[in-house]
Amino acid sequence: MQIAPQPANAALSLEYPLPDLPAPGTAKQVRTGVFWLRMPLPFALKHINLWLLEDGTGWTIVDCGLGTDTTRTLWEQIFAGGLDGRPARRLIVTHCHPDHIGLAAWLCEKFGLKPCMTSSEYVHAHAVYHRVGGTDHAALRTLHERHGLDGARLDALRSRADHYRRGVPSLPNAFERIKHEEQIVIGENAWRVIVGHGHSPEHAALYCESLGVLIAGDMLLPRISTNVSVWPMEPEGDPLGEFLTSLERFGELPADTLVLPSHGLPFRGMHHRIAELNRHHQTRLDRLIAVCERPSTAAELLPQLFERNFDDYHLVFAMGETIAHLNHLMHRGVLKRGENPDGIHRFVRRPLMAKA
Ligand SMILES: [Zn+2]
Repeated sequence: MQIAPQPANAALSLEYPLPDLPAPGTAKQVRTGVFWLRMPLPFALKHINLWLLEDGTGWTIVDCGLGTDTTRTLWEQIFAGGLDGRPARRLIVTHCHPDHIGLAAWLCEKFGLKPCMTSSEYVHAHAVYHRVGGTDHAALRTLHERHGLDGARLDALRSRADHYRRGVPSLPNAFERIKHEEQIVIGENAWRVIVGHGHSPEHAALYCESLGVLIAGDMLLPRISTNVSVWPMEPEGDPLGEFLTSLERFGELPADTLVLPSHGLPFRGMHHRIAELNRHHQTRLDRLIAVCERPSTAAELLPQLFERNFDDYHLVFAMGETIAHLNHLMHRGVLKRGENPDGIHRFVRRPLMAKA
C-alpha cells in the first residue's frame, strides 16, 4: 500500500460514475469484460480494489490483495461464484507493495501461473522479503536517524520490522516480464502498459484505448495523494521528481478516461486530478523552501507537511515523504544538505546567485 496519511484537497470536481461498491466476495462489472473486486485491509486505507478481465476461455486477474486468511476466503467465494467456472489464465501485478502482491504466490500456485510484472518490481519484492540490499529495518532506522528522528520514535518503529512478510507470506520464484509501452491482448482488448516511478520502482498501470479505461494502480488515486518516499537503499534519490514526471504520461490520455484506482472509487477527471496533485506537491515544496531559511532536519519539518500526529505505521511514510520533498529541492539546486559533525542531515536554502 504505502500511501501518505494525509488527504490531498478533496477532489470535489471529479465524477464518480460507479458509486455502488461490489459486495465482499463478489465481482461487479464496470465495463464490458471488466470486473471490480474489493478486498479489506487492516489499516487506514480499509480496502484495495482488484480487477478481473475476461480473457477468452478464462480470466486475467490484476493485483492480489493482502496475504491474509480474510482475503483468501473472499477469493474462494469469487472462485466459487464470480468466474463462471472459468480459470484464471494470467495474473498481472502492478507493483510490489503487500496489498498488491500479497497473495500472488497462492494465486499462481492455484492456477499454475507466473505473475506478469515489471522486472524491478519482481526483484524489489524479493529484496524486501529477504531483507537484503538495504531494505532491512536497521537500514531504515539509520536513514531516519540521519534525518533527525529521536530515539524514542526510532525505537517505536521496531514494531513494523516484519511489516512486509505479514502481508506477503511467500513470493513466486519466477515471473513473466512486462515493459513500458508493451501491448497485452486480454480477451478482445489490447491493454498498454504505462510504467510510473516514484511510488515504487517500476509500477505498471494498464490502459485500454478501446474501452477508455485506465487501471491506475496506486499512481493516480482520487482522494489521497500517493505516497512518494525516500527509502534507505537510495538515500539521495529523487522519487518525487520521478513521480511528477510519471504523471505527465497519464496526462496524455483522453480526459474522459475512466480511471480504476487501487483505493477509492472509479473516477473521471484525471487531468484535473493530475493538476491538483501537482499543486499539492508544489505547495509543500514552497513551504519547505520558506522554512529552510534556517538549517532543518526532515524530522523537524514533519509538521510542515503533516498536520497530525501519526502512529508508527504512518510515521515511516511521513518521514519518507518529507525526505522526498527535501531531496527533490536538493536535486533542483534550491536547498543544500549540510555536512554536520554530528552526522545529522540538515537542509538549508541556497543563497540566490547574484546576477552579473
Ligand atoms: Zn503501493
